[in-house]
Amino acid sequence: MTHPNYGRIDGPIVMIGFGSIGKGTWPLIERHFDFDRAQFVVIDPNPASGPFLAEHGLRHVQTALTPDNYRDVLGDLFKDGKGFCVNLSVDTSSLDLMKFCRELGVLYIDTVVEPWEGFYFDTTENADRTNYALRQRVRDEKAANPGGTTAVSCCGANPGMVSWFVKEALLTLAKDTGRDATPPTDRAGWGKLMQNLGVKGVHIAERDTQARLKPRPRGTFVNTWSVEGFIAEGFQPAELGWGTHEKWFPENAHRYEVGCQSAIWLDRPGAITRVHTWCPTPGPQFGFLVTHNEAVSISDYFTVGPADDPAFRPTCHYAYHPADDAVLSLHEMFGAGRQQKVHEILGVDEIVTGIDELGVLLYGHEKNALWFGSRLSNEETKALAPYQNATGLQVTSAVLAGMVWALENPQAGIVETDEMDHARCLEVQRPYLGPVEAHYTDWTPLQDRWEHFPEDIDESDPWQFRNVLAT
Ligand code: NAD
Repeated sequence: MTHPNYGRIDGPIVMIGFGSIGKGTWPLIERHFDFDRAQFVVIDPNPASGPFLAEHGLRHVQTALTPDNYRDVLGDLFKDGKGFCVNLSVDTSSLDLMKFCRELGVLYIDTVVEPWEGFYFDTTENADRTNYALRQRVRDEKAANPGGTTAVSCCGANPGMVSWFVKEALLTLAKDTGRDATPPTDRAGWGKLMQNLGVKGVHIAERDTQARLKPRPRGTFVNTWSVEGFIAEGFQPAELGWGTHEKWFPENAHRYEVGCQSAIWLDRPGAITRVHTWCPTPGPQFGFLVTHNEAVSISDYFTVGPADDPAFRPTCHYAYHPADDAVLSLHEMFGAGRQQKVHEILGVDEIVTGIDELGVLLYGHEKNALWFGSRLSNEETKALAPYQNATGLQVTSAVLAGMVWALENPQAGIVETDEMDHARCLEVQRPYLGPVEAHYTDWTPLQDRWEHFPEDIDESDPWQFRNVLAT
């Protein structure tokens, strides 16, 4: 495999957080950019990162960024108003960090709108603990301060890459239904395309089958990426972009009066809210409706008409079947009412089987449903890039694509992945995604019903959220 060089990053590269995603992103940065290695710095409070960083000749600032120190720590490292801040940490405020980087003239990227430590569990009102609230603050900052130094928000696999997949899937569907498949050039065009194709909604439909030989020890939360990150989002309320085709409204749901108004939230943790969904490997399956930024951003981006009275808007939500060990970990955690103290992330060398199948399921159109996504195995990942499993590589390669796009568009202001050139980003990312495939299916959520147990469903439209939500 030859590795394209995407140009030079002048000034320091500061990576905040060196967990599963940071450690996997670093070799891609080494591979694809020219930069001064002496100016590559990792900020991470975890001493465990120290020996690895020392062995590879990388500088480690062993500290936790806080609301009190981030201006001093980052200001010291970015003295000349040049460089790139790559935020791959938990417990740091994406908004504060991106604002400061833009003030300094430093490029910025992250993979999630992360808040400062304490936010997820100490915030009392559920409406304030949502990704809608977190995202809206970033959108408000963009509106208040348009343009300027590029800061890419939420550029991982999901949120991130899946927004590029939605566009690629729309073009595939346009071509396969005999329509004009010329990519639209602006947001209004993309919204119209989705509307004209008759798409009612999108599941971010994922099945992670990665597994190791060792059975999950009781009292241990096992996952394929940040356990802390997954627990935090799993305990947030379930959230979904709310489409114009929906006829029913869940009893425990709440709307917003301010902001883009594209989403609703449910009074229930996402990681115990099950939905009927579909992926190529399992076919029909249960997924968890874990809240994610992309559910809000995709339904917002493809809205046609005014925010408070749209002519068209897709329903959009995550439908996540994590690795089997993670499902057991969730079951144990919610059953016990407390978090496990021991956390483990499945390492690339202990995984003996499995793929991360992550795609978008566009439903409700004349060909029923189309899944488009990456089906990357851990085996293939080993051959593609070091220090990460398949889940990690889907994320880190999106970070790489986002960094390339930012370098090529350094004055684009604050952007989400929906607003970036999806074709360019996928061109950079695709060599790392394993098989990227389109699959049509005739499955609908009306098919997964249990004989003898009638449910409250709407047979007039299979794609109502009422049918998707598992009771
Ligand atoms: P991880 O738990 O493996 O690592 C997080 C790292 O952040 C740890 O090394 C920790 O020491 C460090 N950290 C904690 N507090 C810090 C602070 N105050 N300042 C600096 N560093 C701090 O997590 P991960 O799997 O590497 O995930 C990193 C981030 O990426 C998380 O926010 C996660 O939600 C996000 N993520 C996004 C996607 C996506 O597809 N968009 C996918 C996976 C992870």
